[in-house]
Amino acid sequence: MPELIADIAVFAPLRQLFSYRVDESLHDSIRAGQGVLVPFGRRRLSGIVVALRRGSAERLKDVAELLAEEPLLEQALLELCCWAADYYRYPVGMALRSALPAGLTSAAPRVAALSDSLYRPLEVAEQPRGSKQREVLDFIRSAGEASLSLLRDEFSAPHAILERLVEQGFLSKTRIEKLRDPFLADPVKTDQPLPLTEEQQAAFERLQQAVLAADFAPFLLQGVTGSGKTEVYLQTIAEVLKQGRQGLVLVPEIALTPQLVGRFRARFEAAGYRIAVLHSGLSDGERFDSWRQIARGDIHIVIGARSAIFAPLQNPGLIIVDEEHESSYKQGEGFRYNARDLALLRGQKERCPVLLGSATPSLGSAYRCAAGQMEKLELTRRAHAGALPKVQLINLSGQPPEQLISTELQETMAATLAAGRQILLLLNRRGFSPFLLCADCGQTFRCPNCEITLTYHQKAQHLRCHYCDYRMTPPVACPGCEGHQLNPEGFGTERLEQEIAELFPAARIARMDRDTTSHKGAHQKIVREMFDAKIDILVGTQMIAKGHDFPGVALVGVLASDAVLNLPDFRAAERAFSLLTQVAGRAGRTGGGQVLIQTYSPDHYALQCAAEQDYSSFYAQEIQFRQELGYPPAGYLANLVFAGIGEAKVLKAAESLTAYLIAAGSSVEILGPSPCPLFRLRGKSRIQLLLKAEKRPQLKRLLDYADQWKLPAGVSLSVDVDPLDMF
Ligand code: ADP
Ligand code: ZN
Repeated sequence: MPELIADIAVFAPLRQLFSYRVDESLHDSIRAGQGVLVPFGRRRLSGIVVALRRGSAERLKDVAELLAEEPLLEQALLELCCWAADYYRYPVGMALRSALPAGLTSAAPRVAALSDSLYRPLEVAEQPRGSKQREVLDFIRSAGEASLSLLRDEFSAPHAILERLVEQGFLSKTRIEKLRDPFLADPVKTDQPLPLTEEQQAAFERLQQAVLAADFAPFLLQGVTGSGKTEVYLQTIAEVLKQGRQGLVLVPEIALTPQLVGRFRARFEAAGYRIAVLHSGLSDGERFDSWRQIARGDIHIVIGARSAIFAPLQNPGLIIVDEEHESSYKQGEGFRYNARDLALLRGQKERCPVLLGSATPSLGSAYRCAAGQMEKLELTRRAHAGALPKVQLINLSGQPPEQLISTELQETMAATLAAGRQILLLLNRRGFSPFLLCADCGQTFRCPNCEITLTYHQKAQHLRCHYCDYRMTPPVACPGCEGHQLNPEGFGTERLEQEIAELFPAARIARMDRDTTSHKGAHQKIVREMFDAKIDILVGTQMIAKGHDFPGVALVGVLASDAVLNLPDFRAAERAFSLLTQVAGRAGRTGGGQVLIQTYSPDHYALQCAAEQDYSSFYAQEIQFRQELGYPPAGYLANLVFAGIGEAKVLKAAESLTAYLIAAGSSVEILGPSPCPLFRLRGKSRIQLLLKAEKRPQLKRLLDYADQWKLPAGVSLSVDVDPLDMF
C-alpha cells in the first residue's frame, strides 16, 4: 500500500524540494500550502507543503507537525511562487517565505510590537570591525531593510549591535509608529465617478466585458500623461467589486503615490469597501495584520508595491499594474522577480483580467501587443482641456561645457518666475559610469559589438564595454569634428543647485532625491510645499517625474539628458524616452506648459519622439535596434554576477565558468566576463557574465548546465534572469 508523501519547500537556501512521509494522524488535515515543521539534519525547520502524492516512503522521515490548521497559501499563489522560484532560480522555500509576513513562518506565535524601528543600510564600502556586526549588517543589506522585531528573531539581543552600526554610519534608523498609518489615518473627501470621455468609455467597456467574462485576459492601457487612466482603473474596479471579487493594484513605489491612494479611498471607502495599503513603512505586526485581513476576505482592494503581487486575496477579479514600464517592479537583489510579469501569470492562475497601464509602455509590453498576445486600449488625449505641453530641444554642442544651464533655459526660467509660476528641473546623477563626450559636436563612443556607451575609466585611461569587455584608448581628437574638447561626463552634479542659487538668488529652491527624502514625511512635505506654492524651483532626480500633478508648474527643464541616453545599458534609449515623456507631462497640467530639454544629441530619435510624445515612432525604431542585436524583447538575457574580496580571485572564477560554458557548445552568446559598472560594492569586486539567447529554452538549458559547475570558495554568484538594471 503506497504511503502519503509530502513534497516540502523548507525555509532554507536550497533550490530543491524534500520529501517526507505523512503519518496517518495527519492524513485528514494536511493540505498543499500548509506550513509544517520537519526534521532536517539535526535541526527542525519550517516549510510549506508544495504537493501531496502516494508512493514508497522507505527511508523518508516523518513530517513533525503542522504549523496551523489552515493552509498559509492558496493553490494559485502557491503555484505562482513555485513557478517564480524556478524561473528566477531562487530557493523555493525562501521564495514562498517572501510571500508571507514575518511571524507566520516561525513556530513560535508572536506578539506584534506597539512601536518598532526600521533599519536601512547606508551606502558605504567599508565593513564594520566585529564579526557579529558584520553578520547583522550583511543580513540587513541582503534584506534591503529590516525591523527590530524581525532582527530579534534572527539574532540574539541585536539591539546594542544595531545601535553601534547606526553610530558608525552603516545604518539609518527610523521609528515606526504602529497605529498611525500615514495612508489610512486621515479621512478623505468622497467622490463620484466622472462621466467618461469617449476614449475612456471605449476602454472601460472592453474591460467591463473582460471582468464579466471572469477569465484571464491581458490588456495594455496606453494613455498619454493626464489622459485619465486612473478613472478607468476606478470604474473597472467598481465592476469587479460588484461581482464580489477583489481588486489588486500594483504601483511602482507607494511613498510616491499618496494621490492615487487618496483617489481610491475617496471613491470606495464611503461605499463601505475596505482598502489595504501595503508599504514599507508598516511594522511587522501591521504587515501581519493586513495579511490576515486580506486572507480572511475582509479587504476589497489591495494597493501596494511589487511585493503586493503575493497578497493573499482569495478571489481577485482584476490585477492592475500602474506605470508598468517602471523598473522598480523588478526586485534587484535576492529573489529577483518582476512583479509585472508575475501579475500576468497570477491572472492566468486566478482566471482574471490583468491591466497594465502606462504613457510609455515597456518595449516588452508593446511587443506583446504587436504579436497579438495582449490587447491594447488607447487614450490619445488628455482628459480635460489642458493640451500637451510644447517641448523644445536645446543643442548644447559648442556651448561652454562648464555652464550647466544654457542661456535659453536661463531666460525661460527668469520669465516663468516673473510670471509667478513654478519650475521643475530634472537632473539625473549616476556618477559611477562616466562616458566621454565631445563638447563641440556631441560625439560619444559606443561598443562596436554591443552598441552600448563605453564607460570611461579615468585611472586606466581607457574606454570599456561592460557587456563584452571591449576596450579602446580614447583618441586625442574627436573623430567626428576633430575638436579637442573630449570631456568625461556623468560625474556628480551637486554643483547644479549652487549654480541655480547664484543665478536666481531670490527664488525659493528645494531638492528632491533619495538623500533629501530619506526620513519619514520629508517627501510629503516637499510635495505639500509645491502645492502651496512655497517653492519656486524644485530640482530633483527622476523622483520628480512621478506621481504628482503640480498645477502651478509651467516649466520643466531637463539638464543632462545625455547622462540617461548614455547609460551603459541597451535600454538607455527606452529609459530616456520614457523619463522625458513622463517629466514633460508634468508641465502645464492646467494648460500652457513648456518643456526645455538640454542635450548634445538633439537628433536622437528617443529625444525627438519624447518631444512629440510619439510612442509609436519610438517603438518602431527601438524595436528594430533590439531585433538587430538580439536584445529583449527580441531575445532573452541572464546576467551572472560574481562577487568577492580580491579582484584576481573573482575574475578567475568568472573565467573558469566562462570556459565551462563555452565547452557546452550552446548557441547562447556569452558576453564577458567584464567588470560591473559598479565594480566595487560593499568592499567586494564584481564581475559579470551576460548570456544572450534567441530562445528562452536555450537559455534555461545553459543555466541548468551552469548549476553543475562548482563555485570556488570566497566567491558568490548571483543569477539574474531577465535583468533590468545591470549595475
Ligand atoms: P493619467 O493617470 O492618465 O496621467 P489621471 O488619471 O491622473 O491621468 O487624470 C488626469 C486628470 O484628469 C485628473 O485630474 C482627473 O481627475 C481628470 N480626469 C480624468 N478623467 C476625467 C473625465 N472623464 N472628465 C474630467 N476629468 C477627468
Ligand atoms: Zn561590447
